[in-house]
Amino acid sequence: MVDRVLVSLDGAVRDPDAPLLYADDIGVLRGDGIFETVLVRAGNACAIEFHLGRLRRSAQALDLPEPELGRWREAVERAAKEWGSDREGLMRLVLTRGRDSELSGVAEKVTTGDLAAAVPVPTAYVLVLPVPARVQKARTEGVAVVTLSRGISIDLAQAAPWQLLGAKTLSYASNMAALRFAARMGADDVIFTSTENRVLEGPRSSVVIARDKQLITPPAKNGVLPGVTQRALFIEAEKAGWECIYKSLFTADLLTCDSVWMMSSVSLAARVNSLDGLRMSAPDNAQEIIDLVDRGIERAGAVHEW
Ligand code: PLP
Repeated sequence: MVDRVLVSLDGAVRDPDAPLLYADDIGVLRGDGIFETVLVRAGNACAIEFHLGRLRRSAQALDLPEPELGRWREAVERAAKEWGSDREGLMRLVLTRGRDSELSGVAEKVTTGDLAAAVPVPTAYVLVLPVPARVQKARTEGVAVVTLSRGISIDLAQAAPWQLLGAKTLSYASNMAALRFAARMGADDVIFTSTENRVLEGPRSSVVIARDKQLITPPAKNGVLPGVTQRALFIEAEKAGWECIYKSLFTADLLTCDSVWMMSSVSLAARVNSLDGLRMSAPDNAQEIIDLVDRGIERAGAVHEW
């Protein structure tokens, strides 16, 4: 049974133990690139068209060359097939600006008219890994969460688009630092808040609250990443009679609602079982929400515009 699969964008299955990147890859030097994390279930890359749609949007935000989605689809299918259908996998799609040495040569190539060679070849690959052990626990037992300030206003995304708040860039060092900070406080996860005390998102998940028959999540314009899982949930929940709303939430809303959820492509629906040390008991409809997410990501097959 393979425990890692690596496929480059030309469709070649590579040795996952062999070096792939150059030392001057801009993704490594500056975190200047984008990625997607996708759940592989029953041999399929779940909600792949949503992920490819967001990959395209992220590439636009970073002025990367337009991703060739047909080639990505083929590489994803190849990698999922190699992984097999007997267990879930965590798939990463990685796209960086390519090699710094090629970028440095651009100005010279433009002056000499050699425009075809002026854009560095992006680094692009698909990697599948086992799902981390924490994921099963998060799905079944939920997660203990602390709220941490992100130190930004909900207006930042629109005031400073170069902050790339709605793009899934490779620059995740501060997100990982927040998770380590939370772990030192005995928590599993984080809900970031804005300077106005609004709810933002987790370092690797979207926040959704349930209140009566409503599901509510903060809008992307507040500076959060549009989540594939949250979106797949909303599509499925609307069919089941839920009212699904994008609205700014205050941190107080987290305490007065029926349940709070961290939604992400691999952990799927992780219920917040304690918030800043306060225990949050499971509502009667917790399983219904979990099932809606499962169905949502499995059915989210069609191409959707973001
Ligand atoms: N917000 C951030 C910052 C994330 O990193 C992620 C997950 O990757 C999400 C939200 C949830 O997105 P998705 O459901 O597409 O995995």
